[in-house]
Amino acid sequence: MKYNFNAGPSMLPREVVEATAQACLDFNGSGLSLMEIPHRSPEFRAVLQEARDLVRTLLDVPQDYEILFLSGGARMEFCRVPYNFLRRSAAYLDTGTWAFQAMHEASHFGQVITVASSRQEHYTHIPKGFEQRIPDQADYFHFTSNNTIYGTELRYDPESPVPLISDMSSDILSRPVEVSRYACIYAGAQKNLSMAGVNLVIVRRDALPPADRYIPMMLDYREHLAAGSMLNTPPVLPIYTALLNLRWLYRQGGVEEMDRRARERASVLYDEIGRNRLFRAVAREDSRSLMNICFVMDDEFAAREQDFLDFVEQRGIRNIRGHRSVGGFRASCYNAMPLEGVMALQQAMRDFEKQVLAGRV
Ligand code: PMP
Repeated sequence: MKYNFNAGPSMLPREVVEATAQACLDFNGSGLSLMEIPHRSPEFRAVLQEARDLVRTLLDVPQDYEILFLSGGARMEFCRVPYNFLRRSAAYLDTGTWAFQAMHEASHFGQVITVASSRQEHYTHIPKGFEQRIPDQADYFHFTSNNTIYGTELRYDPESPVPLISDMSSDILSRPVEVSRYACIYAGAQKNLSMAGVNLVIVRRDALPPADRYIPMMLDYREHLAAGSMLNTPPVLPIYTALLNLRWLYRQGGVEEMDRRARERASVLYDEIGRNRLFRAVAREDSRSLMNICFVMDDEFAAREQDFLDFVEQRGIRNIRGHRSVGGFRASCYNAMPLEGVMALQQAMRDFEKQVLAGRV
């Protein structure tokens, strides 16, 4: 048994991977591969429509919002958002590399106001009290709900005097979201939704300001809305995998159940990190992510880092090396991670501690 803790692309339910493989060979008994069928065929349109409907149901998306499946990675949305929404100034919360890159892209379109930043503290927490500092003349307020690299998360929908826009790439569909508070939500698929290659965008139609300047077609949300996510040839395979995964999620009990499981998994690991003498958590307690659990070796045991990676590898625990800018370890626990996976990691941490303290490794 292998447990894949990669931060993205990340593990998907086995049945989703198998059904994707099957569709690559023979899509719905048609004798053709999913990769070969016309994207405008009734069969693929049905895939797209069901995927949209499931996102609407699972996240309770109101009718005045559109659901798009676009490509270009989450980073493309860093540009699409200011292209479409920024006219004079936009407010951003700087909570990590991705948030910062989003700000950087926006800075080419107008004034970017940093509402708060935890950069000086190596992004180990989400700044407190930022909601009171959002300027009410800004065109929108943008935040990253889960900071994949640092393991911090804003697991609620903040109050904002201006339209709210969020990059939910690494915690979308892991909890209920009050969509009506947002003008736009976007997420790259390769964590909780599908394989890489598609972005989910949820946008309120009337939040888009009137088009008063040229927006390149592929960057214009209105063009994508009008074309029903088929402005260019859509990434059929990632969209199909998203559909399979959305069906799986629905059968499992939806986002409330995903939230419950995420809390359960995270508490097992954070409790162990707190108890274990070898490790300490990276993020401050009040900002800890339920998705990416980042920890490092306590200074006294720093030389044991590679030993621990080798130790867990022998137990089928894969990809827990932390991001290069943080070091240490990162256990990414997205929707598909079973509780047994985190229990296996917890056991490995305990056994490794025993060996180290007994001086045997
Ligand atoms: N935002 C967040 C929160 C991410 O975790 C990532 C990728 N890990 C990105 C944006 C960038 O995504 P992409 O590679 O799809 O552009």
